[in-house]
Amino acid sequence: MNSFLPRIEISLSQIRENTQILSKLYKNKGTSLMGVTKAVLGEPSIAKAMIQGGVEFIADSRLENILRMKNSGIAVPFVLLRTPLSQAESIVHNVDISLNTEIKTLKELSCHAKRRHKIHKVIIMVELGDLREGILPHDLSQFFEQALLLSNLEIIGIGCNLACYGGIKPDDKKMQELSAQVGLLETRFHIDLKIVSGGNSANYEWFKSSQNIGRINNLRVGESILLGCETVGRKAIPGLHLSAFQLIAEVIESKKKPSLPFGEIGQDAFGNVPGFQDRGDHQRVIIALGRQDVQVSQLKSNNKLRMIGSSSDHIILDGGDHNLEIGDEVRFSLGYSGLLTTMTSPFVLKQFTDSDAHVAA
Ligand SMILES: *Cc1c(COP(=O)(O)O)cnc(C)c1O
Repeated sequence: MNSFLPRIEISLSQIRENTQILSKLYKNKGTSLMGVTKAVLGEPSIAKAMIQGGVEFIADSRLENILRMKNSGIAVPFVLLRTPLSQAESIVHNVDISLNTEIKTLKELSCHAKRRHKIHKVIIMVELGDLREGILPHDLSQFFEQALLLSNLEIIGIGCNLACYGGIKPDDKKMQELSAQVGLLETRFHIDLKIVSGGNSANYEWFKSSQNIGRINNLRVGESILLGCETVGRKAIPGLHLSAFQLIAEVIESKKKPSLPFGEIGQDAFGNVPGFQDRGDHQRVIIALGRQDVQVSQLKSNNKLRMIGSSSDHIILDGGDHNLEIGDEVRFSLGYSGLLTTMTSPFVLKQFTDSDAHVAA
């Protein structure tokens, strides 16, 4: 065995197929998609798989990720999901559209755009109750009044983001509220809001059940493309692949040991005083993977191995009767923050498993 461990195996064809199914579903009611790449650090081959699958834009929260994709030759419009004032100059230079909620930042963007003889496009985010980014509806008119004065910006749309901080569900009521704001702003300011971006992977159930999606014509989706689920109840979306990403680690110890630590109990490696249940002697397996590689609570063992505990570089599993030996591989599926943390770990090799991966990479 000479494959590198730990590694994350990535199926680009499954990501592409997930995107195809979702694009088709959403386009049916006139909704375009922005493929969100932040959980995979803007990995260019994954962005390409999303584009092949039908997304019209690539969106990311980090300028560094967008630069990585641009440098690899990807040429669709890029959307920045989070807009820091300090990066205004580079944003205008490198990004086509940014999401915004602050006049001070818009002024800076317009200023840099003017210097470069450019028009920078912006989508204004509206706060609908989740309490992350957004302008409260009753402040929106005044905000637009100021924003529309900025010479080198084009406000191409509005959007909202739910189910991220407050866990507020996108439903017909919230989406109608956003549509109503579009109407009010267009009438009041004689503008045309081309993009109405209603949300993220959490909007799936609403979209499926809604008879009338109003003015919503865009969604920004990451997790449902990558992991195949919606994000209100983390239910699988029919037809989508759920295991496009697999994390694989190596068994480095396998021994029968007691389930109770012995000696005097103090703090563990993370400052907690642990408590234990005596289950007698049992087979305990250690894998070379830890909290520095992944948010361990997000791991789902493909063989239903139970996790006993973890530290920075070790995860202890209940070996049960799996007969795991030193050097064996253990496979896991991942939740969203598991994916995010693993893709961010420099210790985990990112490996593409499809035959067309070399072309894409
Ligand atoms: C991360 C993010 C998304 C994508 O969310 P998913 O749940 O991965 O679909 C969409 N919009 C904004 C503003 C985001 O920050």
